[in-house]
Amino acid sequence: MLTFTHRTLGQRVLFGAGRAAENLLSEADRLAARSVMLIADTPARQRAQDLAAQLPAAIVYDDVVPHVPIETADHARRTAAEHDVDLLISIGGGSATGLAKAVALTTAIPIVAVPTTYAGSEATNVWGITEKSRKTTGMDDRVLPAAVIYDVELTYSMPVPLSVASGLNALAHCIDSMWAPRTDPIDQALATEGIRALSAGLPAVTADPRDRDGREQTLYGAYLSAVAFSSAGSGMHHKICHVLGGAYNLPHAQTHAVILPYVLAFLAPAAPTAAARIADAFGTSDAVSGLAALRAQLDAPTALRDYGFTEEAIDEAAHLILPAIPDSTPRRVTERDLARLLRAAWAGAPLTEEAMT
Ligand code: NAD
Repeated sequence: MLTFTHRTLGQRVLFGAGRAAENLLSEADRLAARSVMLIADTPARQRAQDLAAQLPAAIVYDDVVPHVPIETADHARRTAAEHDVDLLISIGGGSATGLAKAVALTTAIPIVAVPTTYAGSEATNVWGITEKSRKTTGMDDRVLPAAVIYDVELTYSMPVPLSVASGLNALAHCIDSMWAPRTDPIDQALATEGIRALSAGLPAVTADPRDRDGREQTLYGAYLSAVAFSSAGSGMHHKICHVLGGAYNLPHAQTHAVILPYVLAFLAPAAPTAAARIADAFGTSDAVSGLAALRAQLDAPTALRDYGFTEEAIDEAAHLILPAIPDSTPRRVTERDLARLLRAAWAGAPLTEEAMT
C-alpha cells in the first residue's frame, strides 16, 4: 500500500548557461524590485556587481562569513532596513544564501538566489544562525528563495577539490533522503535521479572544471538533492555532520564528503531496497562499492583528521550525536557504533566489516 503526505515547496527555478544576468533582470522585474540588496562574499563581489549591473541595486553587502553569526545577521538586517530594501539577491555558496535567509527571516523580504556551489541551501526553507558558537536551525517559508537562478558558467571557477567536496555534500543529501524522518516516494525518486546526475557529472568536472555538460549535470543533481533533502529532513548522516560542524568547527562540505561512505556502509545492509536504488543510480551492483568507486575517481577527502578533528574528541562526539539520531534510521545505533564509525572516519580507514559492524 502506498500512503504518504508530500509537500512541494513553491519557487521558480531558472536554469541556463550564461543566462544569470538576463534571468536576474526578469526576476527582479517580476518581483517589481525597486531597491535591491546584493549579498556576495568579497571574492564574488565584483562578479555579483557585474551580473546585477542593470538592477536597481541599493547596496552591495559582502560581509559574508560561514554559518551566519548573529552579529552579521543583525547588521545585514539593519542595513536592509536603512536602504528600504525590497529584494535580496544572494550570489555565492551556502554562506551567502544563508545570510540572505537570515535577513528574510525577520523581514519577509523575498530572495532570488544565484548559487555558485552545490550546497543546495537555495532550494530549502531551512535557516541557520550561530550565536555564542552554537548554530540554531529552523524551518520557515519566509526564507525559501522566491526564485533560484542556476548558471553553470558561475561554477567554472570552483577549484576541483571544492567541487568534489561540495558535490559529495549534495550526494549526501540524496543518500540521506532515502531514510530521513519525513522521506516519501517523491523524495526518493528525486534523490535517485540526483545520484545519477551527480555521479555522471562529477568525474567530468574533475577531468575538466570547464566541462559544461559535467557542470550542468552536477548542478542539476545538486538542485534535486536539495529538494529531496528539504522534504525528507535530516537523516543519520546529516545529524552526525551537524554535530561535528558545530562542536568542532569542521568545514561543512569536506565533513560530509568524509562521513558519507561510513554511514552508507553502516546503513545499507539494513535498508536493502534503498541500497538497491542507490546502486542502480550509480550503475553498480551494490551501493557501497558504487560510492567507493566514485570517490576513488574523484580523489575525494578521506579522513577527518585532515580537517582538524582529533582522536581525543571521538568519544565525546559520539555521546553528543547519539540523542540526535532519528527514529527513522533503518538500524539501531549505539554510542559504541558511533565511536567506531567516527574512529574509522577520523583515520580514513578502509570500509571493512570489522570497522563498520
Ligand atoms: P561557502 O558559501 O562558505 O563557500 C565555500 C568557499 O567557496 C568560499 O570561500 C567561497 O568564496 C568559495 N566559492 C563559492 N563559490 C565559488 C565559485 N563558484 N568559485 C570559486 N570559489 C567559490 O560554503 P558552501 O559549502 O557553499 O555552503 C556551506 C554553508 O551552507 C554552511 O553554512 C551550511 O550550513 C549551509 N547550508 C545550508 C543549507 C540550508 O538548507 N539552510 C543547506 C546546505 C548548506
